[in-house]
Amino acid sequence: MKWSKTLIQTLRDNPQDAEIDSHKLLVRAGIVKKLAGGLYTYLPLGMRSLKKVQAIVRDEMDKAGALEIVMPILQPAELWRTTGRWDTMGPNMFKLKDRAEREAALGPTAEEEVTDLVKSVVGSYRQLPVTLYQIQWKFRDETRPRFGLMRSKEFLMKDGYSFDVDAEAADKTYWNMYHAYERIFARCGLKAVPVEADGGDMGDSQTHEFHVLADAGEDGIAFCEGCGYAANLEKAARKADFSASRDGASEAIEEVETPSARTIEEVSRFLGLEPSRFVKTLVYSADGKCVMVSVPGDRDVNEVKLKRFLGAKTLELAAFDDVLAVTGAEAGFVGPVSPADKTLRILADISLKGAFGRVTGANKNGYHIKNVDFSRDVSISEADYSDFVVAAAGDACPVCGKPIAIRRGIEVGQVFKLGTKYTDAFKAVYKNDKLEEKTIVMGCYGVGVSRTLQAVIEQSHDKDGIVWPASVSPYQVCICLLDPDTPEAVAVSDALESALEAKGIDVIVDDRAERPGVKFKDADLIGFTVRVVVGAKGLANGGVEIKLRSEDKSKTRIVAPELAADCIEGLLRG
Ligand code: ATP
Ligand code: MG
Repeated sequence: MKWSKTLIQTLRDNPQDAEIDSHKLLVRAGIVKKLAGGLYTYLPLGMRSLKKVQAIVRDEMDKAGALEIVMPILQPAELWRTTGRWDTMGPNMFKLKDRAEREAALGPTAEEEVTDLVKSVVGSYRQLPVTLYQIQWKFRDETRPRFGLMRSKEFLMKDGYSFDVDAEAADKTYWNMYHAYERIFARCGLKAVPVEADGGDMGDSQTHEFHVLADAGEDGIAFCEGCGYAANLEKAARKADFSASRDGASEAIEEVETPSARTIEEVSRFLGLEPSRFVKTLVYSADGKCVMVSVPGDRDVNEVKLKRFLGAKTLELAAFDDVLAVTGAEAGFVGPVSPADKTLRILADISLKGAFGRVTGANKNGYHIKNVDFSRDVSISEADYSDFVVAAAGDACPVCGKPIAIRRGIEVGQVFKLGTKYTDAFKAVYKNDKLEEKTIVMGCYGVGVSRTLQAVIEQSHDKDGIVWPASVSPYQVCICLLDPDTPEAVAVSDALESALEAKGIDVIVDDRAERPGVKFKDADLIGFTVRVVVGAKGLANGGVEIKLRSEDKSKTRIVAPELAADCIEGLLRG
């Protein structure tokens, strides 16, 4: 392909709305162009890379035995009403009506659609297991679309769904997909790590997210160097051994006036005590009923753990009036010692069991109390001490006890055991060999294809631009033809282009009437895996110059024109 025949626009300036490197580079290198917030056009270069990611995903899915289908993006509301998700998905779902007032949604995912399909096609155990997948555009009205393709309103997802006779068979399928995912991301040139995640409203269901580690990642991940434990922060546990040694007597409780100090920082400054001596107390409404939770002052409440512990369907901070009614004070002055409502259930983080000498809110506006001793002053049942905080660096690993580290990650994929949540709702059953009716057991498997494309850039770039891994580079090779008016240089370039294409290597020839500096800058910005310089001067000196984008600038490799194709092939393979 000749540069002059394609449509490439590179930009000098970073887009105004781009916060992270990969977003800046996507736009500056002419991979995508923004239409509106969260909506992007894939330009010719971007389309080539996107298709390469898709091809890798498709190949690994096919090899893993999954069958490709494609289902409508426009999904009737009835499907979503069957599981109740028409309401619970909330404003994230783009909803619309057709001319006959029939409601529908632009699919944010497709569990309902595929379960409805399988229910009507599968009837016997002989048809199972089966895994179906599609690579289809998804729509989500994200609260904050940002970071380019990372969190967009319209994005390409590979969504796969497995159907098995029982949980044991579904487990096998799950791990088969898990390993396919490892291969997909490795082939895209990505280091992606599987991390344990919370099963959401699916109870204790098993799920792993695949994360690309990057400072720009939106998710926090707890890692243990010791044993390899990895979990996202919603799920990450910590070793629950907090038998506080009581090496001093508890002093008498003391009320102190803290007029305008509400936050831990304010009160800690006011009283001149370390934040860790404070107890942070929040009141939540769980399925409409108030519950109080206390955690150490320097820690955050993990709402996912709290919700799971309570087995609640909904959990939100309690309203102002409710907090006042159950505690006697406004948020900021509430605490676990004698709240107004004596029936209020109080929970506390496990690390507070036996804790003493603590400061808590006094359940009286403008006051805190000192010297709180949890075993003496707080009425919490034994079972209501649990792990309610977000894991932090230095916490003991729940598996081996070594200190954990916190890293940032970009979720590029997820595998999930769904059990019978959807097949129960749709009554998707099969007959076993005894002709008994059984419910099909499901799993689902998503890859953010467009997000993966950007994650590659986030993980592989330098100050000059993108550094594409060969497998997903828009063109694997860019020939910078420095003298497009010199027949000898053109002949060498044309011959090399043909030789590479014959080897199945895709090439773009920069044949523009531009200065060498412009061509080198663009080649570096777009980041084609291999750059070849063909020019009259170089040819007179013995050859063409070949360089991997990932190599140091000073590294030059002068190769005779007739050996260039083999040399490039070797570099791409190596
Ligand atoms: P997130 O937590 O980042 O919102 P999710 O867990 O809701 O993502 P899934 O439902 O698991 O997303 O979707 C499968 C994959 O689709 C994700 O792993 C991610 O790679 C991708 N994805 C999800 N939402 C978006 C989005 N708004 N833009 C681009 N890719 C997305
Ligand atoms: Mg996910």
